[in-house]
Amino acid sequence: MTSEKNETKLRMITVSGDHYTAGYKIGQKTAPEIRRILELSGEQVKKQDPSLRKKYSAMFLNLVKDAAPDILDELRGVADGAGANFDELFMFNLKELETLAKQRLPESENCTTIIKPKEDRVLVGHNEDGDHNNDLFLLKAKIGDNPRFLALCYHGWLPGAAAAVNSAGLFQTINNIFSTDVRVGLPLLFHARTALGAKGIEEAEEVITARKRARGENFIFYKGNTCRNIETSATRHKTRDVTVPYVHTNHYIEKDMLPMQLKIPPEKASTLQRSARAQKLVREQDDIDLDTIKRILADHANEPRSICLHRFLHLRTLGSVLFDTSKKELHISRGLPCKARYYTYAL
Ligand SMILES: [Zn+2]
Repeated sequence: MTSEKNETKLRMITVSGDHYTAGYKIGQKTAPEIRRILELSGEQVKKQDPSLRKKYSAMFLNLVKDAAPDILDELRGVADGAGANFDELFMFNLKELETLAKQRLPESENCTTIIKPKEDRVLVGHNEDGDHNNDLFLLKAKIGDNPRFLALCYHGWLPGAAAAVNSAGLFQTINNIFSTDVRVGLPLLFHARTALGAKGIEEAEEVITARKRARGENFIFYKGNTCRNIETSATRHKTRDVTVPYVHTNHYIEKDMLPMQLKIPPEKASTLQRSARAQKLVREQDDIDLDTIKRILADHANEPRSICLHRFLHLRTLGSVLFDTSKKELHISRGLPCKARYYTYAL
């Protein structure tokens, strides 16, 4: 019975040290998973133009060496610890590559966030939808002089790509957005990783908007009773403090950002359906608490384009997160929120 229960829980990895050392430990502890995911992504890569990928990868690497040397060290540590090829791992961390190399249209509209601001706190629920071939783990880390953090992580990707909280009381969630505005700049996953070290919302906002970005995304930061929604593309961004019940999926909501939206063919899109359904369910509630949000995250209307995503294209809800910003903890389920149990993890 015990082992059966454990199987439904996410694996927790705890690391500390400088960036390289912490990365090395993460790589060591997730070596089989990293090698497997690189092998699978290698199958996709084979269909693409190798010279184009190589060219872009070298341009990104030059830029990252200057802009985020610590994080690059961390990624080198991960590759060494896992016994993986650094160039392959670096390319795996370039979410912008498929758009830039124009090999195919993206097929990765994923994640739903539901937010209820209260007077003294913010209540949040987030479904983490990702490649059904990958899986999530939990990372508790104290790296360098930065605040400790607890982050939901994908094998092989830098931490920060999903929900997280740090010891300064800053929470973050991220929703994938595809825009037409992409260039060689600091890669998205390097921004997201750096934001984990921010002590407040202003600092986090600066991390993801001040430097030359390669592409955009939807970042939402939370601390105390404040929630800030930031939509970015490579060259534009728009910020809004959220004060009413709010839903974000995988398209721009801010008017100024709409022209940058990359149109995904309807047969591959689900963001509008998930957003409309979650908004309807939120509007129908008199009062919203974490249990209400949890129920909405397990909703199956519009299947297969449902909020609880069983399987749509290569995507599936890999995990689900609930939190209340008054406590530095995350309630997390592994797998589908309609089936899995949520466990509480304190920082
Ligand atoms: Zn379900």
